Amino acid sequence: MRHNISILINLLIIQGLAVLVVSQGFDFFYFVQQWPGSYCDSKQSCCYPKSGKPASDFSIHGLWPNYQDGSYPSNCDPDSPFDQSKISDLAGRMQEDWPSLACPSSDGLIFWSHEWDKHGTCSEFVLDQHDYFATALNLKKQVDFLQILTNAGINPNGEFYSLESIKDAIKGATGYSPWIECNIDESSNSQLYQIYMCVDNSGTNITECDVLPHGKCASEIKFPSF
Ligand code: AMP
Ligand code: AMP
Repeated sequence: MRHNISILINLLIIQGLAVLVVSQGFDFFYFVQQWPGSYCDSKQSCCYPKSGKPASDFSIHGLWPNYQDGSYPSNCDPDSPFDQSKISDLAGRMQEDWPSLACPSSDGLIFWSHEWDKHGTCSEFVLDQHDYFATALNLKKQVDFLQILTNAGINPNGEFYSLESIKDAIKGATGYSPWIECNIDESSNSQLYQIYMCVDNSGTNITECDVLPHGKCASEIKFPSF
């Protein structure tokens, strides 16, 4: 009897560990960059950071662990709150490349803390808090979308460009197809809002995306100025 109970306890422990391991996994990251002009000219409007208007460049929205079936884990570890002191060496680059545009005007901490709590905690067994933010900043250096697009004659000047020409330019320069997310401006024009690339689950290499998020762009989309 006692033997049976100890077997049962062992099985429960093994099952518990298996659940822990499975619940910690994810398949890949979406690395998402955003065009600030499209965040700001939509209905929600925006507020510049306390440090001033960000550069006219794509900025980071997030690095999001995802599953191959299209779903994603979120808020994985309430015991690991965002801690500014862990990324103090990255502060300058964070302000520059990951500015918050939410209102009221802020220094970015609320946005970064949201991203860490919701997404970062789900990959913390591969990337701790410092490395999570450093990885995203380094990925941004690897793919300079503004440079890629302007090289292809696609400029943030309020004109319309075909979705295909935008995807082709990025595929041509990086070797990988992006996912383009559009939002609408105040006159209901479909416009280039965010660009998704897929990254392997170590955060090292850009990969092709097997699953794409939902959403629809018009075939010609606006690239607003900022
Ligand atoms: P997520 O929860 O990571 O999927 O991101 C969505 C949230 O991020 C929404 O609440 C957005 O309003 C917010 N958000 C998106 N871009 C920015 C930005 N540049 N600054 C501040 N908040 C943002
Ligand atoms: P569709 O125009 O919806 O028939 O899509 C044609 C191809 O483009 C498919 O491979 C889609 O997955 C892809 N596609 C459609 N919309 C987007 C988008 N917004 N960003 C990236 N790829 C897209």
